[in-house]
Amino acid sequence: MNFIQTRGIDTNRAKTVTFSQAILSPIASFGGLYVPEKLPELGEEFLNKHLNSSYKELASDMLARFEIDIDKEVIDKALSLYDKFDDRTNPVPVVKVKENLYVSELYHGPTRAFKDMALQPFGVVLSSIAQRLNENYLILAATSGDTGPAALETFKNRANVKVACLYPDGGTSDVQRLQMVTEDAANLKVIGINGVFDDAQNALKRLLASQSFKEALEKKETKLSAANSVNFGRIIFQIIYHIHSYLELVRQDAITMGEKVYLNVPSGNFGNALGGYYAWKMGVPVEKIIISSNENNVLTRLIRDGKYDLRECAVVSTTSPAMDILKSSNVERVLFDLFGAKRTKELMNDLEEKNVYELSSDELNELRKYFDADFCTGIEGKKYIKQIFEKYNYLMDPHTATCIKSYETCCKAEIKTIAYSTAEWTKFSPVIANALTGELDTKDMDALQSISDVANLKIPAMIQELFTKPTVQKTVIEKEQIEEEILKFL
Ligand SMILES: *Cc1c(COP(=O)(O)O)cnc(C)c1O
Repeated sequence: MNFIQTRGIDTNRAKTVTFSQAILSPIASFGGLYVPEKLPELGEEFLNKHLNSSYKELASDMLARFEIDIDKEVIDKALSLYDKFDDRTNPVPVVKVKENLYVSELYHGPTRAFKDMALQPFGVVLSSIAQRLNENYLILAATSGDTGPAALETFKNRANVKVACLYPDGGTSDVQRLQMVTEDAANLKVIGINGVFDDAQNALKRLLASQSFKEALEKKETKLSAANSVNFGRIIFQIIYHIHSYLELVRQDAITMGEKVYLNVPSGNFGNALGGYYAWKMGVPVEKIIISSNENNVLTRLIRDGKYDLRECAVVSTTSPAMDILKSSNVERVLFDLFGAKRTKELMNDLEEKNVYELSSDELNELRKYFDADFCTGIEGKKYIKQIFEKYNYLMDPHTATCIKSYETCCKAEIKTIAYSTAEWTKFSPVIANALTGELDTKDMDALQSISDVANLKIPAMIQELFTKPTVQKTVIEKEQIEEEILKFL
């Protein structure tokens, strides 16, 4: 299978590229993205065939249908990383919370957030392509907390790949910072920046576009790449768990095969939701995908009113920071799928030039056939965390909690809902402790203990250990020094 481009083709570029090429340089003509030429059609036959398959068997067959240019041995090795999840027979448990509401838990990997679902296997795939080409890659990552730990964990000690990870010093939770600064491997460099997440993100964008930086890297025989969520190498692994979650509901006798469900997705950059959209297109019976947001509700407004409007709009910091995003990159792939390359280019140009684009009413109707949306404030989210815990004994993190609001406003009772849980309680413990007990300004260490007491949950060993592990990544610098620091590391 080859990959085509969301904004049409620049004459300097090939018409189609392979999966490997789309992974190594994910930005297509005119700043667009790569998408598969045609999605494999799986249909009910595939679902029936895999009703009793393991996660890995399902994944392996689905990936085979994409016919990508990656050897089967590499795919098998990549998928074997799911064996390190909490339950090696099932990396993604689907739990019934109450009548009609099920939670698909995507956080049982090594860094306790859903980024592991895609980044774990992606690390193996990228490293194998680099080895095959006999090239060395520098992966740049900027993180507000979840991507950094997951990227470091997956590339740790992998051949032909080095990672430089930028984070805002003081701008992440203690657990997230410790997950990064305790990572000890020669191919990893973690850099704290005196500034906020935007400073890290802007520095990354500047470096990715800088000709002089590229030349400096060439002298060190290194190429530049990024592991952000526009990379199709991540998206492909995010289709699998939507199919798996549907089959889990059939296995649990919650639905019969063919019955439609809602997918309710806490969204930021839209990778998770896009995986659900592709799963639907490939044959999973879905009623609608519900997009849940926090106070940064640009996606809610797009899906309700047809306008992607960033004018007079600034990111606000919320209790669900992994969703504090204004430019939700993967929406572009849905626009392309529904409206084609010419229109997508037009809309994305409007966004870049005028900070706004507007769909026609026909286009909005088309979009709304697939999506509905709502947003949840931090205060509402904390109310839901407490309520769901007290009534149903189920503890969720603040990102997952945004789904409860939209579950109430967008989902009809007679259809089952699969809400996706993107982080374990351990990653956002101060907010959860506050929701459960009212305690304010607790540090992670104390918040973890108080949640553990109230909810009678054990703090996982890999979180507990962080507080006694030595800090090996000690660099904290001004943003002007980043380039120099990275070149020194190489
Ligand atoms: C990354 C992340 C999200 C957003 O996922 P997208 O695929 O970017 O929409 C939501 N919750 C958590 C905890 C995350 O880490």
